[in-house]
Amino acid sequence: MAAIKHFYETFQPSHYDLYLDINRETKLISGKTTITGNATETNISLNQKFLQVTAVEADGQAVDFTMDQPAEAIRISLKKTGQTTLTITYTAPLTDSMMGIYPSYYEVNGEKKQIIGTQFETTFARQAFPSVDEPEAKATFDLAIKFDEHPGETIISNMPEARTENGVHYFDTTMKMSTYLIAFAFGELQSKITKTKSGVTVGVFGTKAHKANELDFALDIAKRSIEFYEDFYQTKYPLPHSWQLALPDFSAGAMENWGLVTYREAYLLLDPDNTSLEMKQLVATVIAHELAHQWFGDLVTMKWWDDLWLNESFANMMEYVAVDAIEPDWHIWEMFQTSDVPMALNRDATDGVQSVHVSVEDPAEIDALFDSAIVYAKGARMLVMVRALLGDDALRKGLKKYFEAHQYGNATGADLWSALGEASGLDIGAIMNSWLEQPGYPVVDASVENGALMIRQHQFFIGDGKDTGRQWQIPLNSNDKQAPVIFKDDELSLGKYSEVRQQLGEPFRVNVGNSSHFIVHYDATLLDDILAHLDKLDAITQLQLLQDLRLLAEGRQMSYASIVPLLQRFADSKATVVITALYVMANNLKKFVIPDSDEEKALQRLFDRLSHAQVQRLGWLPVAGESNDDQLARPTVLSAALYAQNRDAVAVAHQIFTDNQTKLATLSADIRGLVLSNEVKHYGSEKLFNQLLTTYTQTSDASYKSSIRAALTSTPDAALIQKLIAQFENADVIKPQDLRGWFRGVLENAHGEQAAWDWIRNDWQWLEDTVGGDMEFATYITVITGVFKTAKRLSEFKTFFEPKVNTPGLTREITMDIKIVESRVALVEAEKSAVNQAVATEIK
Ligand SMILES: [Zn+2]
Repeated sequence: MAAIKHFYETFQPSHYDLYLDINRETKLISGKTTITGNATETNISLNQKFLQVTAVEADGQAVDFTMDQPAEAIRISLKKTGQTTLTITYTAPLTDSMMGIYPSYYEVNGEKKQIIGTQFETTFARQAFPSVDEPEAKATFDLAIKFDEHPGETIISNMPEARTENGVHYFDTTMKMSTYLIAFAFGELQSKITKTKSGVTVGVFGTKAHKANELDFALDIAKRSIEFYEDFYQTKYPLPHSWQLALPDFSAGAMENWGLVTYREAYLLLDPDNTSLEMKQLVATVIAHELAHQWFGDLVTMKWWDDLWLNESFANMMEYVAVDAIEPDWHIWEMFQTSDVPMALNRDATDGVQSVHVSVEDPAEIDALFDSAIVYAKGARMLVMVRALLGDDALRKGLKKYFEAHQYGNATGADLWSALGEASGLDIGAIMNSWLEQPGYPVVDASVENGALMIRQHQFFIGDGKDTGRQWQIPLNSNDKQAPVIFKDDELSLGKYSEVRQQLGEPFRVNVGNSSHFIVHYDATLLDDILAHLDKLDAITQLQLLQDLRLLAEGRQMSYASIVPLLQRFADSKATVVITALYVMANNLKKFVIPDSDEEKALQRLFDRLSHAQVQRLGWLPVAGESNDDQLARPTVLSAALYAQNRDAVAVAHQIFTDNQTKLATLSADIRGLVLSNEVKHYGSEKLFNQLLTTYTQTSDASYKSSIRAALTSTPDAALIQKLIAQFENADVIKPQDLRGWFRGVLENAHGEQAAWDWIRNDWQWLEDTVGGDMEFATYITVITGVFKTAKRLSEFKTFFEPKVNTPGLTREITMDIKIVESRVALVEAEKSAVNQAVATEIK
């Protein structure tokens, strides 16, 4: 494809005066945009989408223009090049798309209300005002907004409000910034405000449907995150304020608009008295992520979308660095090990996956770049490797330089490597390029051959993969100090094994700490040695062992059946990371059994054995003063006991439900979802179903909502499943932003799979009209791919999705997902009898 010219090449804006008049009643936006800038050609283009442009003037004179809808552009003919002031008058619709300027809906005491907010990343600012909507086109902005205002409403934006005149709100001029980071919102908002040590005003905003104390947790985390970053980056927070706003309708998780970060309510507001530790940790990392962007992404911005990874990988690493610093007792890096790491390793093993750095031009493809497993999770792992190589001193020194050199401007990955290289003396770029430019990752085979300890690398695949001889510069992190720091060859001898082993005094290992992006395939000698010393291994190493064995089994490099006898050895661990990895592995065995078969009953008995002692030890309800590990592990082991249909577990959960029937909201959030699901599954009725669905629409507590969703989607009752699916397209009950979770829940339920699959195929057009064009759209396909495991479903999947393979933004997802389901179906066919035999032997 020929390179598309960026609009910035012909016109460089320096300042915008934006005037917007927004009418919620008529759903119409009237706008006037004045842009001062430099034209280097007489034919220039501005971005626009869905705008009705009525006039374009250059330096006060009307000029010719044409609308180019496919290119999302206004083509303008100027009389001269050089300094030019353009004035564009237009109208635009206010639509419910969760893109551009859009309304969010909610209720307070049964009264319907709305908040207007914005979402401009990636290319939606052009739906609000004409602009050179490219990250490189940084300019200053004066924003003036009028709306059908009534008393009690608040308006906020990137900068403080300067004045109100004749109902128009004028905001202070922004710093030089990219269009996709502009934001504003208005409506009936409540807020809590504080100040950092250095004097930055920090605030949390939400609707009045929430209790005031639901804002407290976020305010504390936001304040301390900014204080942490000012110190870590050695660079002051660049704006007068940092607002965090929760929007009732929000497509992504959160958005780092400069000075006005927007969030899904579930990722900002929480009940401080009854929210699980896991959810608190998640919310804290989301806030820390967005605030990391205020420097890395906002102050210094990627030059073009191909370097999106630069923003996201970095923020994804920093969210853990920051939370680890402000809440050290949480050991938040453990969450990285149980969420980001497996996500990256699973997805990156499929042939056809994107590399972290991808070239991109088409706006529809820009959204498809947001593959969270790659751009966020794998990218963060890359930077974790960099941080380990550099150490924090050099990292901070390099970052300070990077911010100084590029602030209020743009940068590329190469600029970051050069700043970090200068600070450390290491050629970081050379090491990182093998990771960023190539998709996939290596498996390191470690073996003893003729007495010599050998390591080799080659690309690891789950499913069919074409080995093209890729090589990586692997930070080896071996406990053998004689091994190289970076392993970049195909193979290497590390000397006589007996001598290495003797010197080590412990089993030979590589990738200690699980911090490099590769897996290890030890031969029998080395693996047996490690397993013989299992109880001396730390929790992360145990997790890693389970993780690598599972992936090797998925990649058909060892048999699943051979792993089954190992599981019990991890079952009584007191480390939540080990428990989590164990049940990820155990849950993977479910694909080998048919629901309600004898094989499934045997697997349930295995789950019962694995979880039994832990359920006894931990009990159902949180215990005052217990460790974070115990608190986090409890839901995992209880969930295993309930899958096992352990009679005591089912009865205790029922009793807890019965005792708390009139106050379900106050039931401990750690176990509420499990208790409600158990009730719906085993003691369900239409009455209970209706009661929970009504509560779902009434509560503003996102965590309670997710407990109810888990419960309702697990019903075995075919009529109730139909009733639920009938609500999928009713935004008054299930908001489009939450629909994917509901769809997943029903699809994962063996009794609901067919109905959910029928729904999405029949109503695909509705789904595309409602959430298409949105970066979350493709993930509906990922959800289906996560569930399907039979030849019949594979064939239906292909019949339905293959004709859609050329839909912009869906091509890669569909191509990859067909491979993923194909390889799972082949794996199940080949190994199910051996796996089920191994399970049967295990429970004898
Ligand atoms: Zn981000």
